[in-house]
Amino acid sequence: MDLFEYQARDMFEKHGVPVLAGATADTPEEARAAAEEIGRRAGGVTVVKAQVKTGGRGKAGGVKVAKSAPEAQIAAEEILGMDIKGHTVHRVMIAEGARIAEEYYFSLLLDRANRSLLAMCSKEGGVEIEQLAVERPEALAKVEVDANTGIDEAKAQEIVTEAGFEDEVAAKIVPVLQRLWQVYRDEDATLVEVNPLVKTEDGDIIALDGKITLDANADFRQPEHADLEDKAAADPLEAKAKKLGLNYVKLDGNVGIIGNGAGLVMSTLDVVAYAGEQLPGHGEDNGPLASPANFLDIGGGASAEVMANGLDVILGDEQVKAVFVNVFGGITACDAVANGIVQALKILGDEATKPLVVRLDGNNVEEGRSILTEANHPMVTLAETMDGGAQKAAELAAHSAATN
Ligand code: GDP
Ligand code: MN
Repeated sequence: MDLFEYQARDMFEKHGVPVLAGATADTPEEARAAAEEIGRRAGGVTVVKAQVKTGGRGKAGGVKVAKSAPEAQIAAEEILGMDIKGHTVHRVMIAEGARIAEEYYFSLLLDRANRSLLAMCSKEGGVEIEQLAVERPEALAKVEVDANTGIDEAKAQEIVTEAGFEDEVAAKIVPVLQRLWQVYRDEDATLVEVNPLVKTEDGDIIALDGKITLDANADFRQPEHADLEDKAAADPLEAKAKKLGLNYVKLDGNVGIIGNGAGLVMSTLDVVAYAGEQLPGHGEDNGPLASPANFLDIGGGASAEVMANGLDVILGDEQVKAVFVNVFGGITACDAVANGIVQALKILGDEATKPLVVRLDGNNVEEGRSILTEANHPMVTLAETMDGGAQKAAELAAHSAATN
């Protein structure tokens, strides 16, 4: 999960990273009121900053310096509602104005390719770092960081030396990098980026813009992080699935998919997409008449309840016209899965209104199929193979698209 800048600012503050005062506002009036408060220490000067989860806000006009509270209100009027790289601005942060002498760059990230952490640091910050990395790679220091020891004083010293900082400013940056390491470790981040990290005219080092990506795999030990989620932006079906503990990702198509095991579900998406492309004709948008509507892995122990929850989420997707259940019986054998489907359909009752194509294979496959045959549910079709099932589900979805 990526955080908004204001959330990163708060997290920095919590761990002792030097930041300036900041408050959020959702209306120009709120912005004015916040600027009255925030600007006090900086001679009335504040910076009004668009809160969107993308970089390059400055260039897009989403960062404006205001010399007074009324000016902050006008700036907020201009920025709220603005579109920055496809993100609409619903909130601004009013930050205390800084008198910048120099802008630097620092980031710490998970370097998957090297199975390690990587710190990057430059005396030339503020600009887009991707551009700097291409045009003047020698100006961007890259230092490997051992996850077990992190950024201690020696490591921080190595980073600033590598980046070419003079001794005096280097000495001031070192403790800031140690604090940023604390943020990375204690919050279970996969990225902490500060661009720009500034030196003010008074010689203070301050994190002026922050980007933090949190590792969702650590959510179980970071209960406070749930509050940081952008609820307005979350897909309602994904939110529902998350609450039910399901591994669900919403996609754009019309064939709902349920499978057990991430690998099987991924390949099911592929065969359904392929089957859709093989169908004659195409939809309004020129795309195929059938394609996957979601990823849903119900995992190894597919109980009736999990199956019912999964079906419930998928059938709640208005775009879904048919569902393909593709299960390989392993530890949970096919008969248990089949019973799960039958019970799930009972639980759902009248809500099971879309055709279901079921392909079972693996442990106790014969027993599983006879359970479904005996149940004889009007919405259920059995498929012999994965390809056959995908094709059937794609046809059913396409047919429904054509008749609606
Ligand atoms: P980004 O463009 O999305 O990365 O947004 P930033 O928060 O990094 O802001 C872009 C630029 O605005 C910075 O590099 C600074 O040059 C400038 N800026 C941001 N805050 C202040 C401030 O308090 N005072 C001044 N003078 N400039 C600022
Ligand atoms: Mn920035």
